Amino acid sequence: MIKICQRCGKEYPPASNRQKYCADCRPAVTQEYNRQYYLRNSEEIIARVAQYKENNRDTYDAYQREYSKKYRAEHKDTIRQYKKQWLANNPDKERVYCERAKERYHKKRRLKKLEAKKLRLIAKMQANAAKRQTKQIRRKELYQGDSFWDNNLNAFAQRM
Ligand SMILES: [Zn+2]
Repeated sequence: MIKICQRCGKEYPPASNRQKYCADCRPAVTQEYNRQYYLRNSEEIIARVAQYKENNRDTYDAYQREYSKKYRAEHKDTIRQYKKQWLANNPDKERVYCERAKERYHKKRRLKKLEAKKLRLIAKMQANAAKRQTKQIRRKELYQGDSFWDNNLNAFAQRM
């Protein structure tokens, strides 16, 4: 049996009775069907995706971060080219753009300095705690050691 494709009008041998389109038209028909489905249900689909994101915030954020990192690394030249082009097309915004870049740079540096300061403080506190502990242990040994009481009792006895 031969059928006529409802999309392109070509004759084709159908694989089943219900088939309406030839093999060449099938992918385009499916794509169009999916597009129509999305258009009919876009609100629900968008809401579902948003809900999914909300339920998996951490996983999603990590994925997003990883993805953009990879993308930036793989498209370094394209991004640089795009920025250059954008600046050429928006000469009036160049100043703002440069200032923002400067701000970002200084912010990063400030954060780095703060982080270093924090690490130094932590190291200092740890060193102090260790010193205090050593002192405490030494004092404990001093007061609990037999020699301490012996010496003091002897001294006390001599004074009597
Ligand atoms: Zn066809």
